[in-house]
Amino acid sequence: MKPLEALRRWLWLLCLASVLATTAHAAAPQPKQLRAGAATCNLTPPLGSDIIGGFLPFPATHVHDELLARCLVLDDGTTRLALVVCDLLGLHRSVSVEARKLVEEATGIPAANVMISGTHTHSAASALGDHPRGYFSDRDLNDYQRFVARRIADGVRNAANLLRPAQVAFGTAEAPEHVFNRRWFMKEGTVPVTPFGTKTDKVKMNPPGGSADLVEPAGPTDPTVSFIALREPGGRLISVFSAYSLHYVGGVGGGHISADYYGIYCEALKKLQPGAENDPPFVALMANGTSGDVNNINFRTPRPGQPPYAQMRHVAEDVAGKVHAALAKVKWQDAAPLAARYRELEHVAWRKIEPELLAWAKEADGKATGPLGKANLSAIYAGRVLRLAQASPQTKTPVQTLRIGDICIGTTPCETFAETGLEFKKRSPFAQSFMVELAHGYYGYMPTPRHFALGGYETWAGTNALEPQASVKMVEALLEMAGEMR
Ligand SMILES: [Zn+2]
Repeated sequence: MKPLEALRRWLWLLCLASVLATTAHAAAPQPKQLRAGAATCNLTPPLGSDIIGGFLPFPATHVHDELLARCLVLDDGTTRLALVVCDLLGLHRSVSVEARKLVEEATGIPAANVMISGTHTHSAASALGDHPRGYFSDRDLNDYQRFVARRIADGVRNAANLLRPAQVAFGTAEAPEHVFNRRWFMKEGTVPVTPFGTKTDKVKMNPPGGSADLVEPAGPTDPTVSFIALREPGGRLISVFSAYSLHYVGGVGGGHISADYYGIYCEALKKLQPGAENDPPFVALMANGTSGDVNNINFRTPRPGQPPYAQMRHVAEDVAGKVHAALAKVKWQDAAPLAARYRELEHVAWRKIEPELLAWAKEADGKATGPLGKANLSAIYAGRVLRLAQASPQTKTPVQTLRIGDICIGTTPCETFAETGLEFKKRSPFAQSFMVELAHGYYGYMPTPRHFALGGYETWAGTNALEPQASVKMVEALLEMAGEMR
């Protein structure tokens, strides 16, 4: 090559490189600084309200700790998201619809961008409605449900008022010692008769602890706490949104209202942060992951009895300590594109009630006598089956995905099994993914098809309300929605 030609070519390449650099710069606008704000709002009902969570409700006589809606708002300069976790057993779909409408009116955050879930504390009043197991996708709200919807909206508004520049990080912590699969295979002939009078169950929920008849658990646990942390740039924490797959802990005082371990965890994590009491205060959230078949009872080696709140505090403080330690290792980012998808799945049906089951329910209904026992349990299930047979025509099953940078959350409105959450984590197009259950509604337990074949409490008509393919259909929908946000 002649020297002149070489120079010309070199100049041309230099020019091309500079054009490409300019184009690249114009095509990728500088990502905007993320902003975050977090706040709480009180949901505690008056004393005398019925506490739900057991088979029969009873009146509250003492508030041990306040029930809260814990709210986090994120803003990437274009899109805003709100994440709300409520100290409730669950909430009816209509409460979520009303709350999200109020949020949109008050803050402009679109209803589809607001995620609302219940923790599943068993020491709270009902936001499910007057008949918790009426199988209706729409219902008129009672006074407490209206109050809850209003307070959720107030909490999101508070959080939006506190939006300030923020960095975001994702992290995980392992806490396998607090989670146990509660569905067990048992020795031949030792699984009791169902409330429907059949001997078809192959597994037993909450079997007798330490029993020689225990064979092995029927499913896995998910020991990972996933969390999303927000902090002022280089400074103190604003909020940590976490999810752990643990049903609840329990062990409250008689007649007590309490947020269970979820509330104690949030307080414990706050205490570990320097300056957490500053104004505005640090707000932690603990959502329920996928714990439909996972609780805190060690069936193989039962723990000795403990005073009220002792075990709850043990779990909460241990998990908070692990998350706090993991926070020291996370990588912070200034920007994170936000997105949301919300859908109501009409191809997920209510569970079909077979004619034989309906005939049994008609026969067994209203035969409850004496204390809660076998006959009474049959009567309770007869009522549930009869109501399930008259479910609303549509389920309007709500599912949602949120994207926060490289993080994806998928939600279900059911007590979802651990293996469903593990599957979502594995198949999601986002490497940092996790599920939150009991969001936007309460549609009962959602065993996977494999578990329907095994039977047990969670699969009984009335504890389960949706068809056996519901978990498959929901995971497929969530993966599609996650793919769209990619
Ligand atoms: Zn439950």
